[in-house]
Amino acid sequence: MTGEEYTGYVLERRLFDKYLAIYAAEAGAEVRTRTYAYDLLIKDNAVKGVFLKQFGKKFLVECKAVVGADGIESKIGRMAGLNTRTKLSQMTSNAQFEMVGIDVHEDIMEFYFGREVAPGGYAWVFPKGNDIANVGLGIRNANKPALEYLKNFINSKEHLRKGRVTGVVVGGVPVQGPVEKTYSNGIVLVGDAARHVDPLTGGGIYNAMRCGIIAGEVLIEALERDDFSEESLAEYERRWKQAIGNALMRSLRVKEGLEKLNDEQLNQIAKLLSELKFGSVDLKDVTKIFEELPPDVIEFLQGLL
Ligand SMILES: Cc1cc2nc3c(=O)[nH]c(=O)nc-3n(C[C@H](O)[C@H](O)[C@H](O)COP(=O)(O)OP(=O)(O)OC[C@H]3O[C@@H](n4cnc5c(N)ncnc54)[C@H](O)[C@@H]3O)c2cc1C
Repeated sequence: MTGEEYTGYVLERRLFDKYLAIYAAEAGAEVRTRTYAYDLLIKDNAVKGVFLKQFGKKFLVECKAVVGADGIESKIGRMAGLNTRTKLSQMTSNAQFEMVGIDVHEDIMEFYFGREVAPGGYAWVFPKGNDIANVGLGIRNANKPALEYLKNFINSKEHLRKGRVTGVVVGGVPVQGPVEKTYSNGIVLVGDAARHVDPLTGGGIYNAMRCGIIAGEVLIEALERDDFSEESLAEYERRWKQAIGNALMRSLRVKEGLEKLNDEQLNQIAKLLSELKFGSVDLKDVTKIFEELPPDVIEFLQGLL
């Protein structure tokens, strides 16, 4: 997907994750599948290892540092005393179908907003070809399950209704903004565990990878100094904030602004943005739209500038 400024990718997620594991193994990592971390070894107020369970066998791996990349509500983070709990109101419930036999354009991503379609979130159609796409949505504070909203959404769209479902993914995405503290003695948190996910889009793969690289760099430096103390690992948080902190906070502000708007106001903004975008803007139209917008919507738009 290539826009005027950005290039994005639609992934085959299972293959993508598999290849990451292969690359890690080829680089010398010991990959352990079907292995569950059920506790941390904490000595002298510092994380010194992980208790693991694989095929019913329990064992301890001692180490100098742990990277908690265990996803939403990170238990590993909590075991180390970091607050990774997400407010229920700030957790989106997501459902996504892979669908074939639908009419989509492989270069066009579709987004749908509104309280009827996806309250507190949005619906998406991310094409993987001209008749195949990931069709999903995320919702918050809603009174029906995400799957029900998704089925209703698909039934309401002529170009999707006739499709067949070939895959289903469901899960939560935390849109609260990053956790307050992402490091402690002998541990750093990365990705959804640290709530690095963009609060506006719910996209977390890119940020998780970017912060994973930063964590790796900081841990190598810590190894060279042989210092995995909290003071030493604070550098990780400083660097990830420098890399994505402003973008996350901006998305959080926009998300909070959008929450205050009703569907009619969203339509007005979409109309305004599309007219501005395609260069056919008539100043009289813009003025008219602005005159009709309530003060809080104008304030919200000004906040975007
Ligand atoms: C339906 C849906 C659609 C999405 N679509 C997009 C999208 O289009 N683009 C995008 O960028 N993001 C998307 N996201 C968000 C994205 O999936 C996450 O932000 C991303 O996967 C975060 O990566 P992560 O490695 O931090 O966590 P995860 O991908 O959640 O990985 C955490 C891993 O840790 C393992 N784990 C957890 N606890 C333990 C334990 N105790 N011991 C051992 N292993 C453990 C889990 O099994 C899991 O494999 C979507 C999410 C959902 C639910």
